[in-house]
Amino acid sequence: MSRRLLIAGNWKMNKGPTDADTLAMGLKATLSNIESVDFLVAPPSISIVDVVRRLQHTGVLVAGQDLHPEPAGAFTGAVSGEMLRNAGCTHVIVGHSERRKVFGDSNEWVGRKVHAALRSGLVPILCLGETLEERDAGQVDTVVCGQLEAGLAGLQSDQVATCILAYEPVWAIGTGRTASPEQAQEVHATIRGWLQKHHPEYVSQQVRVLYGGSVKAGNASQLLSQPDIDGALVGGASLDADSFAAIATAVQA
Ligand code: PEP
Repeated sequence: MSRRLLIAGNWKMNKGPTDADTLAMGLKATLSNIESVDFLVAPPSISIVDVVRRLQHTGVLVAGQDLHPEPAGAFTGAVSGEMLRNAGCTHVIVGHSERRKVFGDSNEWVGRKVHAALRSGLVPILCLGETLEERDAGQVDTVVCGQLEAGLAGLQSDQVATCILAYEPVWAIGTGRTASPEQAQEVHATIRGWLQKHHPEYVSQQVRVLYGGSVKAGNASQLLSQPDIDGALVGGASLDADSFAAIATAVQA
């Protein structure tokens, strides 16, 4: 089965409503004639409504960057999946390494968030990835498979089939250092192998596994031409419409 490439931009804590609208306007112009890949952007929650409005009818999907597992309640500062859905999101990033490291999201907590995303009708983009210390200690497979196991725990195969996964080696995020296409492919193949082992064949065929970690126009085509890499989750290079579009153009070329 051929999987359509997805280029996703994580704006992190950048672009308040005014700047987000300007960037969305730029994306509307630059992405409009690229039809062979899917696009998604994840603005900070305060800017989501403006971005959804600006990108209406463009086909560019909008995601939350995180969610709380509960639908509503006394959780100051948090946003639920139901709220993201109500604001017009279709997807939500879950378990990004910054959430894990800075905000202490554990594997189990990430798993609850994945359930909450599905409950609220959002596609979770579950992030996985090892630190440099873990790689140097030969623990890549153990760490990534442990994150997969906990992140997808308790889901039916039909639900797993709708999820998106993102392999983001922590040492490559925001560092300018990218995994080589071979290093990335090796872990993507491990992830697909895990899916194959735990679910019927159609699940591993269907699930898109994105690569993230300093992706830009210059390295995108080599990475995304690997057989098990189905797109990119882009941080820094997604903050400018031209550099984001250039990734898709490079991949098409
Ligand atoms: C990310 O935060 O998901 C990411 C991959 O960032 P960058 O592209 O800046 O490394």
